Amino acid sequence: GPLAALRGAGKRYGAVHALDGVDLEVRPGEVLAVLGPNGAGKSTALGLLTGRVGADAGRVSLFGGDPRQPEIRRHIGVMLQEARLPDALRVHEHVALHSSYYGAPRPVAESLELAGLTALARRPYGALSGGEQRRVQFALALCGRPALMFVDEPTTGLDVEARRNFWQVIRRLRDEGVAIVLTTHYLEEADALADRIVLLAGGRVRAEGSPEQLKRQA
Ligand code: ADP
Ligand code: ADP
Repeated sequence: GPLAALRGAGKRYGAVHALDGVDLEVRPGEVLAVLGPNGAGKSTALGLLTGRVGADAGRVSLFGGDPRQPEIRRHIGVMLQEARLPDALRVHEHVALHSSYYGAPRPVAESLELAGLTALARRPYGALSGGEQRRVQFALALCGRPALMFVDEPTTGLDVEARRNFWQVIRRLRDEGVAIVLTTHYLEEADALADRIVLLAGGRVRAEGSPEQLKRQA
Protein backbone atom coordinates (compact mmCIF):
# COMPACT_ATOMS: atom_id res chain seq x y z
CA GLY A 1 0.00 0.00 0.00
CA PRO A 2 0.95 3.66 0.01
CA LEU A 3 3.55 5.02 2.46
CA ALA A 4 1.30 7.95 3.29
CA ALA A 5 -2.14 9.12 2.25
CA LEU A 6 -4.81 11.78 2.56
CA ARG A 7 -8.40 10.57 2.08
CA GLY A 8 -10.99 13.29 1.73
CA ALA A 9 -8.80 15.48 3.89
CA GLY A 10 -9.98 18.94 4.87
CA LYS A 11 -8.51 21.79 6.87
CA ARG A 12 -10.08 25.20 7.51
CA TYR A 13 -8.63 28.35 8.95
CA GLY A 14 -11.69 30.41 9.83
CA ALA A 15 -13.52 30.90 6.55
CA VAL A 16 -10.57 29.72 4.43
CA HIS A 17 -10.62 26.13 3.16
CA ALA A 18 -6.88 25.50 3.05
CA LEU A 19 -7.69 21.94 1.96
CA ASP A 20 -11.08 20.73 0.82
CA GLY A 21 -11.62 17.00 0.22
CA VAL A 22 -8.10 16.13 -0.87
CA ASP A 23 -7.11 12.58 -1.87
CA LEU A 24 -3.42 11.97 -2.29
CA GLU A 25 -1.07 9.05 -1.82
CA VAL A 26 2.67 8.57 -1.67
CA ARG A 27 4.02 5.34 -3.12
CA PRO A 28 7.26 3.57 -2.21
CA GLY A 29 10.34 4.94 -3.93
CA GLU A 30 8.63 7.73 -5.86
CA VAL A 31 9.29 11.43 -6.06
CA LEU A 32 5.90 13.10 -5.73
CA ALA A 33 5.66 16.81 -6.50
CA VAL A 34 2.79 18.73 -4.93
CA LEU A 35 2.57 21.61 -7.39
CA GLY A 36 0.51 24.75 -7.12
CA PRO A 37 0.47 28.53 -6.74
CA ASN A 38 0.87 30.37 -3.42
CA GLY A 39 -2.06 29.66 -1.15
CA ALA A 40 -2.98 26.42 -2.96
CA GLY A 41 -2.72 24.37 0.24
CA LYS A 42 0.64 22.68 -0.39
CA SER A 43 2.18 23.43 3.01
CA THR A 44 -1.04 22.45 4.74
CA ALA A 45 -1.02 19.10 2.92
CA LEU A 46 2.56 18.54 4.10
CA GLY A 47 1.55 19.62 7.60
CA LEU A 48 -1.17 16.96 7.71
CA LEU A 49 1.07 14.20 6.37
CA THR A 50 3.86 15.03 8.81
CA GLY A 51 1.58 15.33 11.85
CA ARG A 52 2.13 19.02 12.54
CA VAL A 53 -1.37 20.04 11.48
CA GLY A 54 -4.55 18.20 12.46
CA ALA A 55 -7.16 17.51 9.77
CA ASP A 56 -10.72 18.58 10.52
CA ALA A 57 -12.20 16.27 7.90
CA GLY A 58 -11.20 12.98 6.30
CA ARG A 59 -8.32 10.68 7.18
CA VAL A 60 -4.56 10.97 7.20
CA SER A 61 -2.22 7.99 7.35
CA LEU A 62 1.53 7.60 7.58
CA PHE A 63 3.00 4.08 7.38
CA GLY A 64 -0.53 2.86 8.03
CA GLY A 65 -0.72 4.79 11.32
CA ASP A 66 -1.47 8.25 12.65
CA PRO A 67 1.21 10.87 11.90
CA ARG A 68 0.22 12.72 15.09
CA GLN A 69 2.03 9.95 16.99
CA PRO A 70 5.74 10.78 17.52
CA GLU A 71 6.90 7.17 17.17
CA ILE A 72 5.42 7.07 13.66
CA ARG A 73 6.87 10.46 12.71
CA ARG A 74 10.34 9.26 13.75
CA HIS A 75 10.67 7.40 10.48
CA ILE A 76 10.32 10.40 8.20
CA GLY A 77 12.70 13.21 7.32
CA VAL A 78 11.21 16.69 7.10
CA MET A 79 12.60 19.95 5.76
CA LEU A 80 10.33 22.90 6.43
CA GLN A 81 10.52 26.43 5.08
CA GLU A 82 10.66 28.22 8.41
CA ALA A 83 12.96 26.46 10.81
CA ARG A 84 15.05 27.91 13.59
CA LEU A 85 18.23 26.51 15.08
CA PRO A 86 20.67 27.88 17.65
CA ASP A 87 23.09 30.28 15.92
CA ALA A 88 26.15 29.44 18.00
CA LEU A 89 26.45 25.74 17.16
CA ARG A 90 28.61 24.83 14.19
CA VAL A 91 27.13 23.04 11.18
CA HIS A 92 28.75 19.69 12.01
CA GLU A 93 27.62 20.00 15.64
CA HIS A 94 24.02 20.46 14.57
CA VAL A 95 24.22 17.41 12.36
CA ALA A 96 25.97 15.30 15.04
CA LEU A 97 23.44 16.32 17.69
CA HIS A 98 20.51 15.50 15.47
CA SER A 99 22.09 12.18 14.42
CA SER A 100 22.43 11.18 18.08
CA TYR A 101 18.64 10.84 18.32
CA TYR A 102 18.75 7.85 15.96
CA GLY A 103 19.92 4.31 16.59
CA ALA A 104 21.60 3.86 13.22
CA PRO A 105 22.14 7.33 11.80
CA ARG A 106 23.77 8.18 8.50
CA PRO A 107 27.42 9.09 9.15
CA VAL A 108 27.71 12.84 9.81
CA ALA A 109 30.20 13.30 6.99
CA GLU A 110 27.79 11.68 4.54
CA SER A 111 24.87 13.90 5.57
CA LEU A 112 27.12 16.95 5.20
CA GLU A 113 28.36 15.82 1.82
CA LEU A 114 24.87 15.07 0.46
CA ALA A 115 23.72 18.54 1.50
CA GLY A 116 26.76 20.25 -0.01
CA LEU A 117 28.03 21.37 3.39
CA THR A 118 31.44 19.75 3.68
CA ALA A 119 33.29 23.02 3.21
CA LEU A 120 31.00 24.81 5.67
CA ALA A 121 31.10 22.17 8.42
CA ARG A 122 32.95 24.35 10.95
CA ARG A 123 30.92 27.51 10.43
CA PRO A 124 28.52 28.62 13.15
CA TYR A 125 24.94 28.28 11.94
CA GLY A 126 24.31 31.99 12.55
CA ALA A 127 27.11 32.94 10.13
CA LEU A 128 25.49 31.17 7.16
CA SER A 129 23.41 32.71 4.37
CA GLY A 130 19.73 31.86 4.09
CA GLY A 131 20.39 29.31 1.34
CA GLU A 132 23.16 27.70 3.36
CA GLN A 133 20.95 27.49 6.43
CA ARG A 134 18.37 25.68 4.33
CA ARG A 135 21.01 23.13 3.37
CA VAL A 136 21.60 22.51 7.08
CA GLN A 137 17.88 21.84 7.48
CA PHE A 138 18.14 19.41 4.61
CA ALA A 139 21.15 17.67 6.20
CA LEU A 140 19.16 17.24 9.42
CA ALA A 141 16.32 15.65 7.48
CA LEU A 142 18.80 13.07 6.12
CA CYS A 143 20.33 12.02 9.46
CA GLY A 144 17.87 9.26 10.36
CA ARG A 145 18.11 7.52 6.96
CA PRO A 146 14.38 8.05 6.36
CA ALA A 147 12.58 5.91 3.78
CA LEU A 148 10.28 8.88 3.21
CA MET A 149 11.14 12.57 3.12
CA PHE A 150 8.98 15.70 2.98
CA VAL A 151 10.56 18.86 1.63
CA ASP A 152 8.65 22.14 1.57
CA GLU A 153 9.58 24.54 -1.27
CA PRO A 154 13.22 23.39 -1.28
CA THR A 155 14.51 25.67 -4.04
CA THR A 156 12.49 28.85 -3.66
CA GLY A 157 14.91 31.76 -3.86
CA LEU A 158 17.90 29.65 -4.93
CA ASP A 159 19.82 30.57 -8.07
CA VAL A 160 19.71 28.29 -11.09
CA GLU A 161 22.93 26.46 -10.27
CA ALA A 162 21.94 25.83 -6.67
CA ARG A 163 18.54 24.58 -7.85
CA ARG A 164 20.12 22.12 -10.27
CA ASN A 165 22.51 20.88 -7.59
CA PHE A 166 19.59 20.27 -5.31
CA TRP A 167 17.83 18.31 -8.06
CA GLN A 168 20.90 16.07 -8.32
CA VAL A 169 20.74 15.36 -4.59
CA ILE A 170 17.06 14.42 -4.85
CA ARG A 171 17.81 12.07 -7.74
CA ARG A 172 20.61 10.45 -5.77
CA LEU A 173 18.30 9.82 -2.81
CA ARG A 174 15.64 8.42 -5.11
CA ASP A 175 18.27 6.04 -6.51
CA GLU A 176 18.83 4.89 -2.90
CA GLY A 177 15.11 4.01 -2.77
CA VAL A 178 14.01 7.01 -0.70
CA ALA A 179 10.49 8.28 -1.45
CA ILE A 180 10.33 12.08 -1.52
CA VAL A 181 7.38 14.44 -1.38
CA LEU A 182 8.26 17.99 -2.32
CA THR A 183 6.12 21.06 -2.71
CA THR A 184 6.93 23.56 -5.40
CA HIS A 185 5.40 26.35 -7.41
CA TYR A 186 7.88 25.75 -10.24
CA LEU A 187 6.36 23.67 -13.03
CA GLU A 188 9.87 23.14 -14.38
CA GLU A 189 10.98 21.62 -11.08
CA ALA A 190 8.03 19.22 -10.90
CA ASP A 191 8.62 18.28 -14.52
CA ALA A 192 12.35 17.66 -14.03
CA LEU A 193 12.13 15.66 -10.81
CA ALA A 194 8.78 14.05 -10.24
CA ASP A 195 7.57 10.56 -11.05
CA ARG A 196 4.12 11.89 -10.27
CA ILE A 197 2.59 15.34 -9.84
CA VAL A 198 -0.45 16.35 -7.79
CA LEU A 199 -1.64 19.77 -8.90
CA LEU A 200 -3.36 21.70 -6.10
CA ALA A 201 -5.25 24.97 -6.37
CA GLY A 202 -7.71 26.51 -3.96
CA GLY A 203 -7.31 23.58 -1.58
CA ARG A 204 -8.40 20.98 -4.14
CA VAL A 205 -6.66 18.49 -6.41
CA ARG A 206 -7.03 19.80 -9.97
CA ALA A 207 -4.96 17.15 -11.77
CA GLU A 208 -2.79 14.18 -10.95
CA GLY A 209 -0.45 12.01 -13.00
CA SER A 210 3.01 11.66 -14.47
CA PRO A 211 4.56 14.81 -16.00
CA GLU A 212 3.78 13.33 -19.44
CA GLN A 213 0.14 12.68 -18.56
CA LEU A 214 -0.29 16.22 -17.24
CA LYS A 215 1.23 17.71 -20.37
CA ARG A 216 -1.21 15.78 -22.54
CA GLN A 217 -4.12 17.13 -20.49
CA ALA A 218 -2.86 20.73 -20.68
P1 ADP B 1 0.72 27.00 -0.05
O1 ADP B 1 1.71 26.19 0.73
O2 ADP B 1 0.26 26.31 -1.28
O3 ADP B 1 1.18 28.39 -0.32
P2 ADP B 1 -0.81 26.98 2.42
O4 ADP B 1 -1.13 25.58 2.74
O5 ADP B 1 0.32 27.65 3.13
O6 ADP B 1 -0.61 27.11 0.83
O7 ADP B 1 -2.10 27.88 2.66
C1 ADP B 1 -3.38 27.56 2.13
C2 ADP B 1 -4.39 28.60 2.62
O8 ADP B 1 -4.55 28.48 4.03
C3 ADP B 1 -3.96 30.03 2.37
O9 ADP B 1 -5.10 30.79 2.07
C4 ADP B 1 -3.35 30.44 3.68
O10 ADP B 1 -3.45 31.83 3.87
C5 ADP B 1 -4.20 29.68 4.68
N1 ADP B 1 -3.44 29.33 5.90
C6 ADP B 1 -2.42 28.46 5.97
N2 ADP B 1 -1.96 28.34 7.22
C7 ADP B 1 -2.72 29.18 7.98
C8 ADP B 1 -2.74 29.52 9.37
N3 ADP B 1 -1.90 28.96 10.24
N4 ADP B 1 -3.66 30.41 9.78
C9 ADP B 1 -4.53 30.97 8.92
N5 ADP B 1 -4.56 30.69 7.59
C10 ADP B 1 -3.67 29.81 7.13
P1 ADP C 1 23.75 31.42 -1.02
O1 ADP C 1 22.64 31.37 -0.01
O2 ADP C 1 25.06 31.81 -0.45
O3 ADP C 1 23.36 32.14 -2.27
P2 ADP C 1 23.09 28.96 -2.33
O4 ADP C 1 22.01 28.39 -1.50
O5 ADP C 1 22.68 29.67 -3.56
O6 ADP C 1 24.02 29.90 -1.42
O7 ADP C 1 24.05 27.78 -2.70
C1 ADP C 1 25.44 27.93 -2.97
C2 ADP C 1 25.93 26.60 -3.55
O8 ADP C 1 25.51 25.51 -2.74
C3 ADP C 1 25.36 26.36 -4.91
O9 ADP C 1 26.32 26.62 -5.91
C4 ADP C 1 25.01 24.90 -4.91
O10 ADP C 1 26.00 24.17 -5.59
C5 ADP C 1 25.03 24.42 -3.51
N1 ADP C 1 23.71 23.98 -2.99
C6 ADP C 1 22.64 24.76 -2.70
N2 ADP C 1 21.64 24.04 -2.17
C7 ADP C 1 22.09 22.76 -2.09
C8 ADP C 1 21.53 21.54 -1.59
N3 ADP C 1 20.32 21.47 -1.04
N4 ADP C 1 22.28 20.44 -1.66
C9 ADP C 1 23.51 20.49 -2.18
N5 ADP C 1 24.09 21.61 -2.66
C10 ADP C 1 23.40 22.73 -2.62
